[in-house]
Amino acid sequence: MKVAVFSTKPYDKEFLLLANYDHRHEFQFFEARMSEQTARLAEGFPAICTFVNDQLDGEVLLKLFGGGTRMIALRCAGFNHVDLAAAEQLVMTVARVPDYSPNSISEFTIGMILTLSRKLHRSFNRTREGNFSLDGLIGHDISRKTVGLIGTGKIGALTAFALQGFGCRVIANDVYENRELTDRGVAYVSREQLLGESDIISLHCPLMPDTHHLINADTIALMKQGVMIVNTSRGGLINTEDVIAGLKSGKIGSVAIDVYEEEGDVFYEDYSNKVIQDDILARLLTFPNVVLSSHAAFFTVDALQEIARQTIENLTAFEQGEQPGGLINYQLSRPRQKEPLKTEHQLPETATK
Ligand code: NAD
Repeated sequence: MKVAVFSTKPYDKEFLLLANYDHRHEFQFFEARMSEQTARLAEGFPAICTFVNDQLDGEVLLKLFGGGTRMIALRCAGFNHVDLAAAEQLVMTVARVPDYSPNSISEFTIGMILTLSRKLHRSFNRTREGNFSLDGLIGHDISRKTVGLIGTGKIGALTAFALQGFGCRVIANDVYENRELTDRGVAYVSREQLLGESDIISLHCPLMPDTHHLINADTIALMKQGVMIVNTSRGGLINTEDVIAGLKSGKIGSVAIDVYEEEGDVFYEDYSNKVIQDDILARLLTFPNVVLSSHAAFFTVDALQEIARQTIENLTAFEQGEQPGGLINYQLSRPRQKEPLKTEHQLPETATK
């Protein structure tokens, strides 16, 4: 099947081509991000393959549909950027890669927590400059600290077990309790209790209307003085301006973020020779107690291999008229409609939202 791949980086191409060893699919790689302007590049492709910062709202989906696209293969787990309601109405299949390597993200999260607790980022820079003093580098043990995890799915659970290995007390908040965690001594508490008791708060829930800006001025006010906040989930979980205010006042002791609400304009690009126009991001980068990475928690060989493998599986299943394993628009899990697809002018108004 012909597949247009968007937001392509060299590693995407390398791993997708390796996983497509039998040449079943014919990939065309575009560096451009999917948007209203670039959607026409997909004309004539029954399937497209996109990543976390591609725009897949109703307008874009309608354009893709008009160009003949019927399947979107996300090479990521999160799908908050896809207008699923519009996809349902257009009868477009959307599939993701739900669990390519949760270890990659949980291990990265632990790395960020240790980096901030022991100021490894500053230590590294200092010795590179020939400065071997320890002034200002006093850290904290994480052993015996309380860590609050919001979201205890695949990544949150692995993070909990790793933290228990360090001797942390782990508490959690989720809409569902994970028995594996309670069996191993993790206590589920209300979000308020978690915010009030945690020395370290790490976010592992999806971005949805009820989790948007769950870290904000009001919830920061409930936290312990000097709290560490870690976000490897989705940028929109945090009101970044409120976090900056918390850092300036000292209420927040340190922050690690791998995801940022406005990351789409900057992340995955080289800005080292340019002026960053985003003042909030630029301010974040000035704090000594902030570590920021560019949505890199997933970025391991293991994860890239698995993303490519599952993406190909999703594409092949769609091509064969089967239900892709990573299908996320569940109405389509009913048998595929046989009647002709609606044309653009027949679509309900809501499909264009
Ligand atoms: P998952 O679906 O296994 O777990 C998500 C958990 O969040 C579930 O247990 C769910 O019940 C819980 N949840 C849902 N709504 C909640 C709410 N309102 N309050 C508290 N908990 C709630 O997902 P996962 O694989 O563990 O991934 C977690 C997140 O990590 C994803 O949503 C994704 O955005 C992010 N992620 C980031 C990267 C990266 O590179 N930084 C890579 C993959 C995934």
